[in-house]
Amino acid sequence: MNYSNWPNSSTKLCCLIGNPVEQSPSPTMHNAAFRHLGVNAVYLAFSIENQNLSEAISGLKAVEFLGANITMPHKERTIPLLDEIDPMARKVGAVNTILNNGSKLIGFNTDVEGFANPLEKKAKIAKLTAMIIGAGGASKACAYSLAINGCRKITILNRTLLKAKKLVTAIEKEFDVEVRAEQLNEKSTQNQIGKHNLVVNATPLGMHEEWFGLSLEGTKLPEGTIAYDLVYRPVNTYFLNEFRRQGAVCISGYEMLVEQAALSFEIWTRRKAPKKIMTKVALSSIRGSR
Ligand code: NAP
Repeated sequence: MNYSNWPNSSTKLCCLIGNPVEQSPSPTMHNAAFRHLGVNAVYLAFSIENQNLSEAISGLKAVEFLGANITMPHKERTIPLLDEIDPMARKVGAVNTILNNGSKLIGFNTDVEGFANPLEKKAKIAKLTAMIIGAGGASKACAYSLAINGCRKITILNRTLLKAKKLVTAIEKEFDVEVRAEQLNEKSTQNQIGKHNLVVNATPLGMHEEWFGLSLEGTKLPEGTIAYDLVYRPVNTYFLNEFRRQGAVCISGYEMLVEQAALSFEIWTRRKAPKKIMTKVALSSIRGSR
């Protein structure tokens, strides 16, 4: 593509719909990927209030968008606004990607596979016992991803115990997996860490310091423990640094960020996403906006 005449009357549109969206690395990642492959498209970010969501979604069709990403807090409430929902997104009850196929808006969830892909590079998911801290949207995608990929035991710890219990009920309904809820506090976290070989942080906690003041100093982690932080800013969180010090294998949230974006990109363009480029720009965007 000749970018001297860009954007032009044939340029396709993609966007992020959420609130807030200002800090998102998604526009940088997708625009770099479009450019790298010479796709005549542009990706923008729109901060949309709840009361305007329905109009924003129907606008995607009216303005012939190629597609969109949906982020917090709209992933669940977007579902009834679409024409068709992919079975995985239906199962999880959340959409993070929309494809406009010309006549229909179709909803997908790429968070589930986006979470699993970096993990599968480190271990067989079916052999893991997992504890997830948090019970919000991201935790739900992780828990479903683990259950779908054969994980047999999942413990969900959350500040609001009722939310963890609701998630447990939803998972039990769909999967044959041992899953339980626990109140999140320093003691329960410390206690559960030794009983699981995958620890996922699905809260904004532990970005810099004071992960409830939890120190793993002297804690004996189970052999091959994996620590997976969904937080991607900073790349090396306090949570990951604590686990790394005790010998755990660490996965940073930017890996899931890139994977879910690459899968969205492939849904829109039907082309293999340039993950190396997307990773490079995601990392520089994250590091540049600390
Ligand atoms: P969410 O739906 O708002 O859920 C937030 C979760 O964090 C809830 O379980 C909440 O507990 C808990 N929490 C928040 N503040 C807390 C505090 N001070 N103490 C204890 N628990 C607290 O958000 P989400 O979409 O699940 O996102 C969670 C994190 O994952 C965010 O940091 C987000 O950036 C990250 N994320 C990363 C990716 C990626 O691709 N890497 C994708 C999605 C999300 P309560 O239920 O008690 O409120």
